[in-house]
Amino acid sequence: METSGLYSLPKLNYDYNGLVPYISEEQLRIHHQKHHQAYVNGANAILEKLDKARKDGADIDMKSTLKELSFNIGGHLLHSLFWGNLAPAGKGGKLGGALADSINNEFGSFDRFKKEFSQAATSVEGSGWAALSLCKQTNRPIIMQIEKHNTNVYPTFKILMVLDVFEHAYYIDYKNDRAKFVEAFWNIVNWDEVNRRMQSK
Ligand code: MN
Repeated sequence: METSGLYSLPKLNYDYNGLVPYISEEQLRIHHQKHHQAYVNGANAILEKLDKARKDGADIDMKSTLKELSFNIGGHLLHSLFWGNLAPAGKGGKLGGALADSINNEFGSFDRFKKEFSQAATSVEGSGWAALSLCKQTNRPIIMQIEKHNTNVYPTFKILMVLDVFEHAYYIDYKNDRAKFVEAFWNIVNWDEVNRRMQSK
């Protein structure tokens, strides 16, 4: 997708007011244009810094540089997944097919899955994400609680669905009530996209 060797902000598949009343236009616009853009810019700036240091033969602090790069790339990739697994209410299809089978096999019911995922989202320590992921070795869907953008991540697990619980994702609409935002999220899930991700190679 990125052909310039740098990251770019993806377009949304819906209007900025498309997720109202669950996410307001102001909240979505700031989140996409300011917060997500900042991770794109941050990742690109570090890549350019690395390019320059390599060209000049200059030393860089690898530990802090890679930590910052991971945070920014993680932020960009997770936000890109997040926008894709949201849809205007009523437009995201129904949970069905292979995804429904997988969730039912693992959790016993959709309600149990929803409860576990919501609890994962509301209890992320500090800023972070809840993610539904798929283990390629066992084919089991596993809930991942990601701190910041890059901590507690299971390497190689495919991410199917994410929910951003950084305060910047909900503060304009819900103030400090993260649980209310998490409950609202279930109205705007794009199940068709989550199902597509599960079945993609
Ligand atoms: Mn965010």
